[in-house]
Amino acid sequence: MSMQAEIIAVGTELLLGHTVNSDAAHVGRELSALGIDVLHSCVVGDNPGRLEEALREAFARSDLVITTGGLGPTEDDLTKETIAAVLEMPLEEDADSLARLKEYFGERRMGPNQYKQVLLPRGSQALPNRIGTAPGCYACRADGKAVAMLPGPPRELLPMLREQLVPILAARTQACICSHMVRTFAQGEGDAALRLAELTGLANPSTATYATDGEMFVRVTAKAASADAAEALAAPTLARVRELLGDVVYGVDVDNLESVVVPELARRGQTVATAESCTGGLLAASITDVPGSSAVFRTGVVTYANESKTRLLGVPEELLARVGAVSEEVARHMAAAVRERAGSHWGIGITGIAGPDGGTAEKPVGLVYIALAGADRTWLRVMRPQGRYMGRQWTRRRAVGHGLDMLRRALTGLEVELQASTRGRF
Ligand code: ATP
Repeated sequence: MSMQAEIIAVGTELLLGHTVNSDAAHVGRELSALGIDVLHSCVVGDNPGRLEEALREAFARSDLVITTGGLGPTEDDLTKETIAAVLEMPLEEDADSLARLKEYFGERRMGPNQYKQVLLPRGSQALPNRIGTAPGCYACRADGKAVAMLPGPPRELLPMLREQLVPILAARTQACICSHMVRTFAQGEGDAALRLAELTGLANPSTATYATDGEMFVRVTAKAASADAAEALAAPTLARVRELLGDVVYGVDVDNLESVVVPELARRGQTVATAESCTGGLLAASITDVPGSSAVFRTGVVTYANESKTRLLGVPEELLARVGAVSEEVARHMAAAVRERAGSHWGIGITGIAGPDGGTAEKPVGLVYIALAGADRTWLRVMRPQGRYMGRQWTRRRAVGHGLDMLRRALTGLEVELQASTRGRF
């Protein structure tokens, strides 16, 4: 019989709309990947009475309750206390959690309110917090009903959920799960869904597409009795996804484009320099976010003003006056000039109108030119908003993605100047 679960997110900020309940989305995704049915999800404020009411209802209906938030050191963090009372499992000091907390503080003074975080319901299993101070925990009652308490901040919740809670739940459902994320660039989600049509709708392995910040991911998840069996089950689907999507796939189980491009450059002993206008250094920041980038990153200049484009990169004033700063010619010049001046193998130039203001009929907001200069030639991509301007952040991030994707494709001998019409929205 399948396990039934529900999610209770605790936090007044969620009710007020100050924080989006992304924790529930993460938990829901992981549970459904385990084949656990999520039947209810609710939000309650930092109020013990209403939390208690929600918990009683949830336990009456479901085998498993997952709570998020309210585990911290402050007065209004009441999740554990309330659950302990409802389940009649008194709180006790957990020695390992206390040791970890002391280690976290080291020489620094630990305030008295910190201590309450290491009090866990008797008989529960601590879920250590790799990022923050509050451990989570998993408590199973004699009748088999269980509750897992996870911290609120997503950066704390995600590793705890994936690395600790999922294996516990997988053991309970007697299943091993393996999951792989295929990452693509320059492919619309709709287009990908069409290509993957033969796989979607299948339950095991399951294939799901996600889109964020202009990138598209495909997650392949398989469930089997052992880890090896799950991997073996996932492998053909994973291979088929790669085959169906083609070379827009830049990696599997990698973080992002830059974490693929930096090692690729390093392997070849090559370097890159960047000249940015509308992205204001975001490309350089993305590259230098990757450990080891010092071996491959030479120089990054932000030439926002026309005068700086001329002074630092030698873009002719006449050219700027004739074609404008946001133009194919200027992007090409920026890429080639920064490559030459930095003495690097590659140069990337970006110029565009991030918006929301500053567009004209001829040059609308969201128009960005991205150029990649190599030893023998310079490639160009144009981001032309098709119908809808996607906002300043999206435009900037997408432009950075294009710069990195062009470099990735040039390095691996693939066609660099993709046609917008065949590759989804640019
Ligand atoms: P801490 O140890 O940081 O106090 P906590 O478990 O007590 O952790 P909360 O105090 O409830 O967590 O929330 C801390 C922050 O985490 C919130 O301000 C919010 O930014 C984020 N957060 C909380 N719940 C959620 C949620 N459901 N979805 C996304 N973010 C959340």
